[in-house]
Order: sequence, then structure tokens, then C-alpha cells
Amino acid sequence: MKDLDREQILWLGGYLSGLGFSGASLVQGASVAEPQVVAADFKLTVLYGSHSGNSKLVAEGLAAEAKNRGVESRVISMPDYKLKELKTETHLLVVVSTHGEGEPPVAAEELHKLLAGKRAGDLSHLNFAVVALGDSSYINFCQTGIDFHQRLQTLGGKALGEVVKLDVDFKDSLASVKSKTLDLFHAATATTSTSSVKSEGTASADGLFEAEVLERINLNGRGSAKETYHLELSLEDSGLTYQPGDALEVFAKNEDVLVDAIISKLALQANDLVKVDENEVALKEALLIHREITTITLPVLTKLAGFVGDEALTLLLDKREEVVEYLEGLDLLDFIQQYNLTISAQQLIDTLRKLPPRAYSIASSQQEVDEEVHLTVGAVRYTKNERLHNGLCSVYLADRVEVGEKVLVRVKTNDGFRLPQDEKVPVIMIGPGTGIAPFRAFLQERAATNASGKNWLFFGDQHFTSDFLYQTEVVKYRSLGLLKVDVAFSRDQNEKVYVQHRLKENAKEVYEWLTSGAYLYVCGDRKRMAADVKQAFVEIIAQQAGVSLEAAEAKLTEIRQAGRYQEDVY
Ligand code: NDP
Repeated sequence: MKDLDREQILWLGGYLSGLGFSGASLVQGASVAEPQVVAADFKLTVLYGSHSGNSKLVAEGLAAEAKNRGVESRVISMPDYKLKELKTETHLLVVVSTHGEGEPPVAAEELHKLLAGKRAGDLSHLNFAVVALGDSSYINFCQTGIDFHQRLQTLGGKALGEVVKLDVDFKDSLASVKSKTLDLFHAATATTSTSSVKSEGTASADGLFEAEVLERINLNGRGSAKETYHLELSLEDSGLTYQPGDALEVFAKNEDVLVDAIISKLALQANDLVKVDENEVALKEALLIHREITTITLPVLTKLAGFVGDEALTLLLDKREEVVEYLEGLDLLDFIQQYNLTISAQQLIDTLRKLPPRAYSIASSQQEVDEEVHLTVGAVRYTKNERLHNGLCSVYLADRVEVGEKVLVRVKTNDGFRLPQDEKVPVIMIGPGTGIAPFRAFLQERAATNASGKNWLFFGDQHFTSDFLYQTEVVKYRSLGLLKVDVAFSRDQNEKVYVQHRLKENAKEVYEWLTSGAYLYVCGDRKRMAADVKQAFVEIIAQQAGVSLEAAEAKLTEIRQAGRYQEDVY
């Protein structure tokens, strides 16, 4: 079993016990009771709904553990599962991730919807448990898992416990579980994830690697309101590989000045010792490397509120929309200043979230760049409470790491965003702004492999002269006859022009590509652009096929479920 921390493992162990398993260990070598292998007289189904592959990984790990305990199990993905199978199921473990603002991943959409109705029938014969994967920086953390839990219960199923929620850092926790185990043998071994990285250039067992920055270029021209960096990192001798569509996790450090300001405002000392994952470190180091201070999630706000005792703040916690608005762009220093927070160094560390890496869509293909990885990163800077706030990782990469220095990275596979297996299949790519990143990777791959399928890119940004990211490369692909391009520069005329307008202007041809089997890809802004582009496709289908909007929407859902409409949105 990979990727779960000890506490989560014990939870899951408890679940498995509840399901009739014995023993509590899900990690080989963890210092918990040895599992007793007792053949069970029932079958377990581990049903997963994955977006980028994490739920699948967890599901497979759970099935492997079940096997260790003598329980026969099958692992099945939601699109392959038939609703009527629930009628005969007795033991079900659902592993599902949550997408964006609490929506199910595409793979889970249909079952999620079906379970909301009565078609599944009475499930009183069913024992179930739910493991939910999510990101606690979203207000509806693990919502899809919660939905599955509630819906199965409503249909009569017997829940064997609360929903187990796994946050984005669940993989990092694995490193500390492993370290703790190894510590039994090597008391002197350091245990932080950074120190477990070998400096000779080979990635650690957890895929962590210190990659040298080879190049950094601001892609925006003079006068632009944007700051978008093209970064080239070396993966030389790391052994790391990736595919177009994958992302790169970057482990940034917090800013020195921000950490100092927090410590000073709280009247604490930089060298106060605090415990982080059983290790004693100085408060300053803990805040620089181990804890998130540039954003505050709802669970963290709830804990912080406990130290403040402000009635209005307590009331705010229950108001969904207002709390989201309050947290927008708020950092820890803002909160400390607003509420005159008093807290001890250890309480602070225990309250804050572990600093998660930031994931960027990879902008290169190894077919083209070999042992390098390229990123397209928009620097986030804004003023709030009369103070400049810097995006943690984007500004770390933009300002704080120099060419020649190293950054800690890890490849994050994303099986939910992949070129078609058949190289003849046409692709339509919609990627305004930094959303162009994975399409640069796609184009490098398709060009290097002489793929015969047609490629069409829709790109947009503010101004043609300053914001046409990778213009030279895009023009080169077009002149080689490899690429059809349509651009939408939103602020070069009075009326806003966006990529979806270009799609609609080309409705007939877009529809022809679609009916000839084209795959559609959307990358970039999740809140506005992705929804508008989806709506544009619905309208195009309705208009071109001469059907109602509802029928067009159903058609698009079909296309999505067939894996032909893939999104990488943030
Ligand atoms: P943007 O998505 O902000 O802008 C690209 C183009 O899309 C602009 O021309 C913009 O026009 C246009 N646009 C605005 N609204 C829509 C819409 N509804 N439909 C279609 N196009 C639209 O590009 P960025 O690359 O700067 O940002 C992409 C996303 O990434 C954003 O969500 C941003 O918040 C996020 N981001 C996150 C970062 C991070 O570190 N987490 C870093 C940088 C960006 P106009 O602006 O003229 O309206």
C-alpha cells in the first residue's frame, strides 16, 4: 500500500476490520499488529472514480491489502460498473475524488447521478465505506465522497464509519510513515522529505528530485499587464519520466520576510523549538518549509477562530458564500493583524496546514526535450490590506529561484488528460493564457512522433502584441502545416473576444471535426472559461445537429464519458 499516512492507514484498517478483515496494518513494515490471514467468506468490491489516477492507486492498494488478509476482491472503475450490480453486492468500498468546487470527476458523474435517484433500489443488504480524496483549499472538500456516503445510506446501505478524507498531501505523508519505520533501524536518519532526496541527481524513492533551473523567460512583452514565465528545468540523471498531460509538483518555500513578519507580530521567537512530524525544528524553519501561510483553508480558519473567540467570526464560519469571499486572497498575516491573534509556537504549527506542493501542467514532451521539463507559470501578485501579496509558488519560481539553482519537484501523472492513443485522431485544444502549457507538450509530441491526426489550437489572452505566449512556436507549427490556429485577444478591441467566440464562429468545422472523432481538450481558468467553453460546445452541437440544448448537452456528456472531452482546469 502506498501513499497513505499512518492515521489514515489505521482508519482504513478499521474499515477493513469492520468489513470482516482482521489485523490493522495497511503498510508493510509499519509498526502495527501483524495481519492474520484468514480467508473471508465474502467478496469485496473496490469501486473507484478517479480523475488523475490517485483514487485508482488508493483503490488498488486497498485491494492488495484485502488480499493480504485473505479477502478476495475486485477493483473496478465506475464507468465499468453497472448499477444493477449493487443489488447483489454485500461489501463495497468506494474510493472517489472530488473535482473543482465539489463536483464528481467525469468517471464518477453517472453513478453519482444515478444514486441520487431511486433506481438503485433498496440497498439494505450492503455494507459500505467511502474513502474520499480532495483538496481542503476548496470549500466543498471531499464533497463527492460525502455525496456517495449519504446517497448509499439513504438507499439503506450500512455505513461502516465516517467518510475517510484524504487531502492533497496524502502522498507526502507516506514519506513520513516510511521514515518513521526506517527510524526503528536507523535512529539517526533524518526524516523530512527534503533531506531524503539524494543530492547526486537520482530521484528519491518517492520521486522527489532537485531539478536545476536551466532557463527562465518572461513570455509577455513590454507593456503587458501579465507576467508569464517559461521555465526549463533539468531532470538529468533523475530517472524521472513524464507524458504529455502530466503535471509537475513544485515544492516552494515561503518568503523569509513574510515568515519574519508573522513571528514578530505574534511576539514569538524564530528559534523557538516546535515539533513537526515528531522532529524538533526551529519555528522559522517550520514556517518556511513545512506549513502553509499564504492561504487559509476553511478547516484552518475554523481552528484559528478557536483562538480568537470572536462572535462574528464564529458566525461567519457557517455562511458558505461569505466565508469563501472572506478567505479569497487572505494570508495568515492578514488574519493575525485583523484579530490580534495570540497563539503559542506549537499551537500555531498544529493549526496550520502542511505546505502542499503546487502542480503545474507540464509544457514539454520528452520526445522533444529529453531530460528536461518545461513549465508555463503566471506570477500571482496582488495588493490586499495595503500590502503586496505574492503567490507562493509562482513568485518563488518568478523571483526567488535563480537560473542555476535547484527546486524540489516531483512528476504528478494525470491519466485524465491524455492525447488519443490512435495518432490519426484529430485534436481540438482550447487553452487561453497559461492554459496553453499542456498543448505545447501535445504539439511537441505529435510533431516528434509524426502523428498524422489534425491539430487545432484555440488560444486567447489580453493583447496580441504582448501576450501571444509561444507565438514563434505556434506560428512555426502552423507554417509546417501541423496546426490550425485561432486566437482571441480580449482587449485589442472594445468588445471582449474570447476563445469560445472563435469556437462558435467556426461552428460548422468544429462540429465536423467532432463527428469525425476529434478529442477535445480544455485547459486554464476553471471558474469562468471552462464553463463558458463547455456551453459553447453545447450550443454548437445543438445548432449543427439541429437538436435541443438538452439533447446537445446529453451528447456532450456522452462525449465526456467516452474520454473525448478532457479538462485540466484550475
Ligand atoms: P486568464 O484565464 O486570466 O486570461 C486568458 C484570457 O482569457 C484573457 O484574454 C482573458 O480575458 C480571457 N478570459 C477571461 N474570461 C474568460 C471567459 N469567461 N472565457 C474565455 N476566456 C476568458 O489567463 P491566465 O493564464 O493568467 O490565468 C489562467 C487561470 O490560472 C486563471 O484562473 C488564474 O486565476 C489562474 N492562475 C493561477 C495561478 C496560480 O499560481 N495558482 C497563476 C496564474 C494564473 P480578459 O482578462 O480580458 O477578460
